[in-house]
Amino acid sequence: MIGIRSEDQIQKMRDAGVLLHAVLEHLKQMIQPGITTRELDQAAERMIRDAGAIPSFLGYNGFSASICASPDDQVVHGIPNDDPLEEGHLISVDCGVILHGWQSDSAFTAPIGQAPTKVLDLIRVTEESFWLGAKQAREGNRLGDISNAVQRHAESHGYGVIRDLCGHGIGQQMHEDPSIPNYGPAGRGVRLRAGMTLAIEPMIAMGTWRVFQMNDGWTVVTQDHGWCSHYEHTILVTDGDPEILSMPGANPWGEAQ
Ligand code: MG
Ligand code: MG
Repeated sequence: MIGIRSEDQIQKMRDAGVLLHAVLEHLKQMIQPGITTRELDQAAERMIRDAGAIPSFLGYNGFSASICASPDDQVVHGIPNDDPLEEGHLISVDCGVILHGWQSDSAFTAPIGQAPTKVLDLIRVTEESFWLGAKQAREGNRLGDISNAVQRHAESHGYGVIRDLCGHGIGQQMHEDPSIPNYGPAGRGVRLRAGMTLAIEPMIAMGTWRVFQMNDGWTVVTQDHGWCSHYEHTILVTDGDPEILSMPGANPWGEAQ
C-alpha cells in the first residue's frame, strides 16, 4: 500500500525536509581532515533536538546514533566513532528526522580535504544518477523508470550499482512501500502517482556491487573494498518534475543542466 499525501501532510514533510537539509548542510561545513564522525553525530542530534524534532535513526532497530557515517569502502550504515577523518578520503553521511510525526531522509558523500579526481568523479556521477532517476519520478511513469535511469548512468561510467539496498517510500514511517531498486528495466513496476513521497538513494561503487555486512551487525562494505558514494533525497511525485522535499528550492533541471 503506497500512501498518497494530502496537502497538509506534504507541508509537514516539507518542514521536516527543511530541517534535515539545514542539518546536512551544517555537517558538510564541518567535514575536514581530523574531525571525527562522532562529532558530526553530536552536532546533528543537537540541531535536530533544538528544532523540536526527533533523530529517526537513533534507536532504529537498536542503532546507536543520529547519523550513519560510512567512509571509503563502507556503503551505508556505518556507526559514528572517534577515528579522525583523513585527507583525500571520502565520507558518506545519512540522516533522518521526524517533525510533527512526518519523516525526511537524506544522504550525501563528501571528499575530505583535497581528494583525487577519481573520488570526485565517483561523487559527481552518483549525484548525477540521483537527479536522472528523480526526474523519472513523475505521475504516469513506472518505478522501473527511476531504477533504470540510475543504473544506466552509473554503469556507463564503469561503476557498480549496489543491489542489496534500495530506496523506499517514506511518510510517517521511514521505510514504507514501495522498495526502489537502483537497477532494473524501465517500464516495469508500480505506476507512480502525484502525492507519493519517495526516498531515492543511489549507492554507487568504484568496483563490484557485491557487499557484505560487518560483525557489528550494521556496516555494509563492498566485497572488493572499492570506495562508494551515496546520495539521497526525499521527494514528492507530481505531474511534472518532482519536488525535492529535503532540498528546498532545488532547481536541478533548470538552466544549469
Ligand atoms: Mg537515508
Ligand atoms: Mg533512505
